[in-house]
Amino acid sequence: MHAMVLAAPGAPLTWVERPDPVPAAGEVRVKVSACGVCRTDLHVVDGELPDIAYPIIPGHEVVGRVDALGPGVSGLKLGMRVGIPWLGSTCGVCRYCRNDEENLCDHPQFTGYTRDGGFASHLIADARYCFPLGETGEDTAMAPLLCAGLIGWRSLTKAGDGKDLGIYGFGAAGHIIAQVARWQGRNIYAFTRKGDEDAQLLARSLGARWTGASEDAPPVELDAAIIYAPVGPLVPQALRAVRKGGRVVCAGIHMSDVPSFPYSILWGERQIVSVANLTRHDGTEFLKTASEAGVHTHTTVFPLEQANEALARLREGRLVGAAVLQP
Ligand SMILES: [Zn+2]
Ligand SMILES: [Zn+2]
Repeated sequence: MHAMVLAAPGAPLTWVERPDPVPAAGEVRVKVSACGVCRTDLHVVDGELPDIAYPIIPGHEVVGRVDALGPGVSGLKLGMRVGIPWLGSTCGVCRYCRNDEENLCDHPQFTGYTRDGGFASHLIADARYCFPLGETGEDTAMAPLLCAGLIGWRSLTKAGDGKDLGIYGFGAAGHIIAQVARWQGRNIYAFTRKGDEDAQLLARSLGARWTGASEDAPPVELDAAIIYAPVGPLVPQALRAVRKGGRVVCAGIHMSDVPSFPYSILWGERQIVSVANLTRHDGTEFLKTASEAGVHTHTTVFPLEQANEALARLREGRLVGAAVLQP
């Protein structure tokens, strides 16, 4: 196998050849056909998350085919197309796992963070956390659904069912969730970096009712706002944009500090909540919804060896939609 490996925080990924890994009991080996690049990969590369197991292979939006089965695997077959998400495994016994909140597990494993991910030709996955993907849809188009879509979906459900929804940061997750929300009959107000015409154009082409810069006031009071950009100052901005009783959902795993703000913009029973990880139930529900809603992802495909270029373009906002690597 080969992979793009992160040896230390802040280092460029380097091409490495290794012997093909052998799946242990309950695991499968997957031959990767596409792996999306997520903002969380940048947080891993920058060492902004704790306890990274260097050297690590990033990537947690993996589409591929099962090419070896470990002992005791049921439900997956050789050649089956599967998706491997951020949630790599959970302990099954902590209070959260026992309470159907495995996204909050005390002892989880995460793909491309605490175990090797999909910036590679092959990876090993816990079979119980792989999603069968069926045969409809291109591998590269499916990849962004595995995190941008999935965590986006969880953040949309946390936003409640209000009609007027703000989306701050219109990248991979924003452009997927806008399509689902439109299909649900909601109105989308898309906020981007000032002057990001490409992202605003994409938002309008996907049916956004209004687009503007993050610091702009939307034309109506929002029922809820979801923040996909890892930018703390957006929290008070979004609070100012939501109505009384409205909710601001912070969807990222990492965010710069939230500046202090006057209590008056929180008052009126406004809420700020965060979204952490995903459950397998989220995955099953979202993949079905995405197919019913006819979600179409906009991707820029790079060969695996250009992973550093893809990360740089994501960092600088020089991407429309989602970046996807192909080994
Ligand atoms: Zn647990
Ligand atoms: Zn992600």
